Amino acid sequence: MSLGSLHDLYVEELRDLYNAENQLLKALPKMAKAASDPRLQAAFEEHLEVTRGQVDRLDRIFKELGERATGKKCVAMEGLIEEGKELLEEDAEPAVLDAALISAAQKVEHYEMAGYGCVRTYARLLGYEAAARLLQETLDEEGEADHMLTELAETVINVEAEEEGDEPAPKRGKRQKAGTRR
Ligand code: FE
Ligand code: FE
Ligand code: ZN
Ligand code: FE
Repeated sequence: MSLGSLHDLYVEELRDLYNAENQLLKALPKMAKAASDPRLQAAFEEHLEVTRGQVDRLDRIFKELGERATGKKCVAMEGLIEEGKELLEEDAEPAVLDAALISAAQKVEHYEMAGYGCVRTYARLLGYEAAARLLQETLDEEGEADHMLTELAETVINVEAEEEGDEPAPKRGKRQKAGTRR
């Protein structure tokens, strides 16, 4: 792949995002299944629907450009998803696992936000106004997802995860110290 122009970079980064979104289409149902809290499950399922629409937007952009959408693997998303999978193999308390799933999901959202912010800016510079608007819509959706996860974590999930640690666990000797933090 040669990057001789900003246009080349634009297409390359769009392909990266296209592949990243398609990886997420496979990962989000697994994250929903792994979540214990029904609100978190619903959040992942909702973002799956949103992600399908984001892929559609990218399809439209590629069609307009006359470029193919495939041909690049987003190695970063592969790594982020891999870290998420590692969590599922841990011996985790359900509420703590939910908190961890939110953390993993927010890393994904932030990666996407960085990517869409860049291509949106390139699209504007290159004069692709319609594409810039579509990319801004997706960027806004990623931001909303991130915000929603923060709300859920701060009001419910992290609180439950923290309470999980307050339950008596006689086998773990260091527990007593936890009370002194309050
Ligand atoms: Fe997305
Ligand atoms: Fe990438
Ligand atoms: Zn990237
Ligand atoms: Fe997203």
